[in-house]
Amino acid sequence: MYISTRGNHERVTASRAIKMGMVPSGGLFVPESIPTITLEELINLQNSSYQEIAEKILSLYLDDYSIDEIKDCVNSAYNEKNFDHPFMAPIYKLNEHTYVLELWHGPTAAFKDMALQIMPYFLSLAIKKVGADKEIVILVATSGDTGKAALEGFKNIPGIQIIVFFPYQGVSKVQELQMTTTDGKNTYVVAVKGNFDDCQSAVKEIFANEEFNDILNDKGYELSSANSINWGRLLPQVIYYFSAYLNLLKEREIQPGEKVNFVVPTGNFGNILAGWYAYKMGLPVNKLICASNENKVLTDFFQTGIYDRNREFKQTNSPSMDILVSSNLERFLFEQTNHNADKIKQWMNDLNTKGKFIIDKETKSSIDQILVSGFATQEETLETIKKVYQSKNYTLDTHTAVAVKVYYEYLRETKDKTKTVIDATASPFKFNSSVLEAIKGAEAVDNKDEFAILEELSEVSGLPIHHGLKDLDKKPVIHKIFCTKEGIKKEIMKILGI
Ligand SMILES: *Cc1c(COP(=O)(O)O)cnc(C)c1O
Repeated sequence: MYISTRGNHERVTASRAIKMGMVPSGGLFVPESIPTITLEELINLQNSSYQEIAEKILSLYLDDYSIDEIKDCVNSAYNEKNFDHPFMAPIYKLNEHTYVLELWHGPTAAFKDMALQIMPYFLSLAIKKVGADKEIVILVATSGDTGKAALEGFKNIPGIQIIVFFPYQGVSKVQELQMTTTDGKNTYVVAVKGNFDDCQSAVKEIFANEEFNDILNDKGYELSSANSINWGRLLPQVIYYFSAYLNLLKEREIQPGEKVNFVVPTGNFGNILAGWYAYKMGLPVNKLICASNENKVLTDFFQTGIYDRNREFKQTNSPSMDILVSSNLERFLFEQTNHNADKIKQWMNDLNTKGKFIIDKETKSSIDQILVSGFATQEETLETIKKVYQSKNYTLDTHTAVAVKVYYEYLRETKDKTKTVIDATASPFKFNSSVLEAIKGAEAVDNKDEFAILEELSEVSGLPIHHGLKDLDKKPVIHKIFCTKEGIKKEIMKILGI
């Protein structure tokens, strides 16, 4: 069963938690208790496919889904039609103790596909199980990558409409075109004047707005979320922490039970939180290393215990991590305080009213046991791409480069010899302009359109252009809606014909 981080909702089944997206009066659903996997079970999974690992993990959390239903979801999502690699999330060995977990082989070239290819199937089943007399409207706020991944996942799924809000001029050209060229009968894309935090807080406010929800309900609509505030979005991310470990085990890179580190380029804290759940389930993890860009609110928080969003929002060359309010931190804090909903309520209230909260020493020292953090500047990000390209002939995207930089710094400071997996969250082609700039200098990208840059990056990296990004410039732009953050509600009503 699933409970609210703020103690303000009854326990619900997995399907209800997924259908609702978040707790209506604020708060996020988390599992009441975390299932475990023994080392023996883990070793037995060693020769399993990604799909088999997925079935095992998902069935531990989705109690009210049958094993056949879970199998259907898994096979519909993780197959070679959607992913261009038979292992879905393969590992690349960078050096003796460092491995890159490539999470970008799905249809939209970012790791969001790992979850958003399967989540729509969970939701479709949830609607059937819970019984829905209403049409579901998925609202998505995106810093660039979730939007397209959600549009692809939910496109043409019966009983569901999807509306995506992205910050106008806050995403890359490729990201924008990926979204605005999406076809499908049930897809809508809206550019919002503002940054990602504006989009995210407007959407969260709409979820919590009873009056607005009543209006929608009267008209036969019900809201849900595909952001990582939805448990159905977070859960599939737990799978690849296991698959990565099992892969290393199978390749004899590690011994059974040997601990590994994971380095995660972090924005909304969803990905790294999935790693923490894997750890809590029994995966041998030494440290989770949280890597931020110049919007280093999390680095500061983990170092001081003070979360302070009162600072300038920076647009960086790793835009999918340009976030000052990391939603999933709430879940992590709930776990770190042993489910103390009163503390969480207080902190989230402080965050809302003062833009800031301070955790107690006990909670902080509990976090320090497992989590390490660091950040990279934009220059360091580009330098890291260049360095890795020149020394290893391997091309990183900007987000992954942030993680690599933070890891190098961690290594220098700690001399920790633990084998380490770096989550690669996007294909280098997705952030082609910054990547080519890093490798060939600013002149290489001056006055060039992104499609010429894609071609050139393909030559430089020796890789084919990612299948999800080819021919984007030839597709018609279908979505041209633009609004202010205050106008989002009105726009939703217009789209739904209310
Ligand atoms: C979304 C995203 C991130 C941040 O992941 P969170 O789960 O929000 O922490 C990092 N890198 C890329 C490329 C992304 O799309």
